[in-house]
Amino acid sequence: MPTQDQQSPKAALNSKLREFFLDQLRDIYWAEQKLVKTLPKLSEAAHSDDLRAAFDSHLIETEGHVSRLEQVFTLLGEKAKAVECPALKGIAEEGEDIIDETEDNTAQRDVGLIFAGQKAEHYEIATYGSLKQLAKDMDQTEIADLLNQTLTEEKAANDKLTELATSGINREAAAEIAD
Ligand code: FE
Ligand code: FE
Ligand code: ZN
Repeated sequence: MPTQDQQSPKAALNSKLREFFLDQLRDIYWAEQKLVKTLPKLSEAAHSDDLRAAFDSHLIETEGHVSRLEQVFTLLGEKAKAVECPALKGIAEEGEDIIDETEDNTAQRDVGLIFAGQKAEHYEIATYGSLKQLAKDMDQTEIADLLNQTLTEEKAANDKLTELATSGINREAAAEIAD
């Protein structure tokens, strides 16, 4: 009986692991498309010009994440397919709740938007980190490289939100008078 560890990583790709990898790609493909629709809402709701600019520039990057994933599907010889991601769907709903529950033109609104944005970025960082590592371990170097490019942008987007929170928005919100 051939043992599992004698199989090459390429062989492993033609297996249940490949199917799992594809499922995860379909999930994040849905999530990225959802973010293309959600980021403009976060941007529109933002009070700080810098925060709005951060959401707007990440929207452009996110459109790039969608097309990078399409490249990955092509490299795998698969049609790009999106399957609903319950996690990102929930995170997007939380973002809309935050907009409903905070007042327009307040720093508190921005604090909430940063929370929502960072929850999304962390979900993406976790997903791309794991996908990239699996691609690497399956000897799919080109795919691992594409996933890593997106991972780098997600981390930078998250860092940008931290910077905005700590460089004034949190302090401004703390000083706001509640009615
Ligand atoms: Fe993304
Ligand atoms: Fe998901
Ligand atoms: Zn992102």
